[in-house]
Amino acid sequence: MMLTIAGIDVFKLSIPLRRPFAIALGRIERADNILVRIWASDGTYGLGEGSPLWYVTGETQAIAFEAAKMLGRLLLSKDPLAIESRMDELDRAMAYNPTAKSAFDLALYDLAAKQAGLPLYALLGGEKRTFWTDDTIGINPPEVMAQAALDVKQRGFPAVKVKLGTNHDDDVARIRAIRAAVGDDVPIRIDANQGWDPLTAVQTLRDLAQFGIQYCEQPVPHWNVEGLRQVRAASPIPIMADESLFDHHDAFRLASLGACDYFNIKLAKCGGIHTALKIDAIAEGAGIRCMLGCMWETRLALSAAAHLVSARPNIAFADLDGHTGHAGDPITGGITYDGGQIHLPDAPGHGADVEVGILERLDRVSIAA
Ligand code: MG
Repeated sequence: MMLTIAGIDVFKLSIPLRRPFAIALGRIERADNILVRIWASDGTYGLGEGSPLWYVTGETQAIAFEAAKMLGRLLLSKDPLAIESRMDELDRAMAYNPTAKSAFDLALYDLAAKQAGLPLYALLGGEKRTFWTDDTIGINPPEVMAQAALDVKQRGFPAVKVKLGTNHDDDVARIRAIRAAVGDDVPIRIDANQGWDPLTAVQTLRDLAQFGIQYCEQPVPHWNVEGLRQVRAASPIPIMADESLFDHHDAFRLASLGACDYFNIKLAKCGGIHTALKIDAIAEGAGIRCMLGCMWETRLALSAAAHLVSARPNIAFADLDGHTGHAGDPITGGITYDGGQIHLPDAPGHGADVEVGILERLDRVSIAA
């Protein structure tokens, strides 16, 4: 008998951050995520998670939860293994809302890999790789950021990602202090989160080049793709598109224009693995290497992301540190961190689940066929 989707549960999962985190777009104090559990007709299930960051995708936890209720109804009684068709139906039924859609996508991939008896990286045609992630520090006065960067190094992360994007003088002072604190052997990646205009970006990047910066994410506003191209042409530091890159259509446009050196793929922006694969394929064709980034996901969505990294060698960098800022970890199984080294589980699916007893306490809606 054909496997069908028998039921769907959507949950709100909120986790406070250990300390508030500031970026050029605003300040975050809590991860307000959603979880999606898709039940198959044989009693197996897949789990997915979305971490809405309203500054970037326009979704809050409440919006993503409502969107997921509507999207979930469209999946009932259908074949969960036809992921491309299922996600196409969700995309046709509702514009945008990529984070809500990504929670369904991850749950479908988790279920498909469990059905196949394979870890997700193997389902995706990859092999197990151990790789490392950076850890990210938020915007603060230079001396506070220097101490935070040193802490990242001492906790065993081989690279530090630094949030910038306020103004030229403060941003240069931050990196000067951080480089002095961590020494010359730690790669520093920076992320302006759209905070500069193109002229400020070029001047700031020229003045930061002396500190040995690996690359800079999203120097200018997301809509200014021509500005991004101009900054890339003038910058001594490689440029990575983040907020200008949601889906494979953006990837094609950015690659065609030569607007950036690298792509930052995030499951919460692109709607999940099915689109991430398309972005990475376009990137590979254009000779652009990718990073897999994140919002404020737990180790559940981060595990799915890590399987994708493992399966696609063109995804050469990882910024899978969302949960390192969380005050708690409700996830069992899944990836483990050894300093910045990420180790994948061998269990079927992405290997992550929610600790027993937690789901029962969350706000939820259940939809059955
Ligand atoms: Mg970014």
